[in-house]
Amino acid sequence: MSSEENLRIGVYPGSFDPITRGHLDIIERSSRIFDRLVVGVLINSAKKPLFSADERVKMIQSVTRHLPNVEVRFFDGLTVDFAQSEHAHVIVRGLRAVTDFEYELQMAQMNYTMRPGIDTIFLTTDLRYAYLSSSIVREVAQYGGDISRFVPEEIVPLVKQKIRDSDGGGQTQEVR
Ligand code: ADP
Repeated sequence: MSSEENLRIGVYPGSFDPITRGHLDIIERSSRIFDRLVVGVLINSAKKPLFSADERVKMIQSVTRHLPNVEVRFFDGLTVDFAQSEHAHVIVRGLRAVTDFEYELQMAQMNYTMRPGIDTIFLTTDLRYAYLSSSIVREVAQYGGDISRFVPEEIVPLVKQKIRDSDGGGQTQEVR
């Protein structure tokens, strides 16, 4: 019925290395705001991620199976170019604390300057996840801590396995 340009399309970009319960909360809430939400997994060549872009995409696909209007892709380059290629008018970001604010504001202003047709909106984190980040999850897992409250249930064994693999030489592992 409605053409692509009448749809409300949002992109939610990030590293998601790995996806946490905080990210999933933002995805679930954004999926109710947009007709279509595209989660963009950034291939950051400057950083050496724990999971490959392909693994991160598959993990997010598997934990968002219950959300029919959510798609997941990886991208390289500028977020505004990715948003444009997805016909999105909105970039979604999550805000945990005031420490996120300065960087996020700068990014949003820069993106708006580059592409005035694309706005950034911020969703404030659910307080249960305000302290949560992918790097904390990686660190806790590295030291054998329990990460089950931090990442979706099916992600727990994948992180543990990946940490074991990377300790022993860093093979990549396929996600179902
Ligand atoms: P990036 O490297 O782009 O910051 P992340 O994967 O760390 O990518 O985060 C992607 C987005 O999700 C960012 O907007 C970040 O602020 C947000 N985010 C990260 N952790 C949480 C959380 N626990 N609750 C809500 N939003 C979060």
